[in-house]
Amino acid sequence: MNYDVMIIGAGPGGIYSAYELMTKRPDLKVLVMEAGHTLEKRHCPIDGEKVKTCVSCPSCSIMNGFGGAGAFSDGKYNITNDFGGTLYRHIGREKALELMYYVDEINVSHGGGGTQMYSTAGTALKKVCMQNGLTLLEASVRHLGTDINYVVLENLYNEMKDRVDFLFDTKVDRLEETGDGGYRAFAGERSWTSRDCIISAGRSGSKWLESVCRDLKIVTHSNRVDIGVRVELPAVIFQHITDELYEGKIVYRTRKFEDNVRTFCMNPRGIVVNENTNGIITVNGHSFEDDSRRTDNTNFALLVSKHFSEPFKDSNGYGESIARLSNMLGGGVIVQRFGDLERGRRSTAKRILEGVVHPTLHATPGDLSLVLPKRILDGIIEMIYALDKIAPGTANDDTLLYGVEVKFYNMEVELDQNLETTHRGLFIIGDGSGVTHSLSHASASGVYVAREIMERR
Ligand SMILES: Cc1cc2nc3c(=O)[nH]c(=O)nc-3n(C[C@H](O)[C@H](O)[C@H](O)COP(=O)(O)OP(=O)(O)OC[C@H]3O[C@@H](n4cnc5c(N)ncnc54)[C@H](O)[C@@H]3O)c2cc1C
Repeated sequence: MNYDVMIIGAGPGGIYSAYELMTKRPDLKVLVMEAGHTLEKRHCPIDGEKVKTCVSCPSCSIMNGFGGAGAFSDGKYNITNDFGGTLYRHIGREKALELMYYVDEINVSHGGGGTQMYSTAGTALKKVCMQNGLTLLEASVRHLGTDINYVVLENLYNEMKDRVDFLFDTKVDRLEETGDGGYRAFAGERSWTSRDCIISAGRSGSKWLESVCRDLKIVTHSNRVDIGVRVELPAVIFQHITDELYEGKIVYRTRKFEDNVRTFCMNPRGIVVNENTNGIITVNGHSFEDDSRRTDNTNFALLVSKHFSEPFKDSNGYGESIARLSNMLGGGVIVQRFGDLERGRRSTAKRILEGVVHPTLHATPGDLSLVLPKRILDGIIEMIYALDKIAPGTANDDTLLYGVEVKFYNMEVELDQNLETTHRGLFIIGDGSGVTHSLSHASASGVYVAREIMERR
C-alpha cells in the first residue's frame, strides 16, 4: 500500500481526520486528495461589477478546495445535538459534544482565540419565543467569522503541509477494493492505495459518492430537502437576539399545514451570497468578524423541511427543480420585497431602490410566488408574522426575500457506530454521509474516525 490512510476531500471532515492522525500518530502515512484548489488559490470570480452572477467554474471556489464548503462560510461553529446533524445517533450524545468542544479548542488555538462563544443557556428569549408560538433551540455557538475562519484554515494547513501529503486539483473519479484489504483511488490515469480510506466528499461530492455506493453495494436512503428563502432586513430589528445569541435557531409550527418552518444560518450585519450546487444557483449568507466589513443588514434563511414517502425517492431532484425554476425566471437568484409578495405583485428594481433595505446581493427583482409551492410559501409568510411578534419590523414591506434557498441533504449512507460501511476500513464522514450538516458535526466526525483507525493499529 502507498499509504496507511487515504482521505478524499479536504473540507472540515477530512481536515480534522488528517489533523488528528498527524498529531497523535505521526508514524502513519496519510494522503489527502482534494478536487479543488489550495486555500490561497480559491477565488470566486463574482465581484458584483464585472461578473455579477455565477459563471460555473470547473471547480467552484466557494464549495471546493482546502477548507471545503466551509472555507468562506460565516464560521458559525454550533456545539449542540439539537441541529447540525445526527452524529449522536451513531456515537452517542456525550461523545458528540465532547468532540465538538475538542475541535473548538483546536480552532481557538489556531487563530480563533479572540472570537466570542454565545449560548442559549438561561436566556429570557426562550420564554418570549414560547409565548408567541415559537421554539428556541439550545446551542452554544462560536462565531469565527469568514475572516478568522480563513486564518484558522491557513494555520492548520501550514502545520500539516509538510507532515501530510496533499494533492489538490485531484478529483477522485473511482474507488475500488484492492482485494487484499485495502482501497485504490483513481484520478484520471493516476492511482493510489491505502489500508484505510475516509471519504469526506461533502455536499458537492454527493453525486460522485452515489456512484461509489452503487459500485460497492453500500445501502443508501434519501427522502428530505429543505426549501425556503433568505430574509434580509435592517440589523437593528434582530439586534436584541443577535447581540445575545449571535444566532437564534427558532422553529415555528404552521397553523395551516402543521409544517415546521425554521430559521437557519443567521448572519448579523452580514451579506447575502450566491451558492452554486451542481450548476444550480441558490442563495446563502455570511458575515465577518472584522467591524469594517460589516453591513447594516442581518440575513437568515427560513426553511421548510419536505420529507417524502414511497414511492417518491428523489427529494434533492424536487429541490433542484424549484431552484431551476427561479434560475429560469431570474437568471439566478430572485429578490422580492415582502410587501410586494403580500400584494401579489413582482418587485421591480425601482421599488427595491426606494425601500429602506439596501440589498447586499445583486439579484433579479421578481415574484417568488411563481417559484415556491403554495404550501411552502404560506408557511414562510406565517412564520414572518410570528417572528414579527418577537422582532417587530420583520414583516415590514421593505424586508427582502431572496429565493430560493435550498438545503440539499445528501442521501444517508448506512453506517455502523464507527461511521464505517459494510466494507472494513472504508469510512464515510461529514456532510457526504448524510449524518452531518454543519462545520462542527463534520469536524467531530473526522476526529472520531481518525481515533477509531488509530485504535486498530
Ligand atoms: C456559503 C456557506 C456557508 C456555510 N456556513 C456555515 C456555518 O456558518 N456554520 C456551519 O456549521 N456550516 C456552514 N455551512 C455548511 C458547512 O460548510 C458544511 O456543513 C461543512 O463544510 C461540511 O464539511 P465536509 O467536510 O463534510 O464537506 P465539504 O466542506 O463540502 O468538503 C468536501 C470536500 O471534498 C471535496 N471533494 C468532493 N468530491 C471529491 C472527489 N471525488 N475527489 C476529491 N475531492 C472531492 C470537495 O471539493 C470539498 O472540498 C456553510 C456552507 C456554505 C456553502
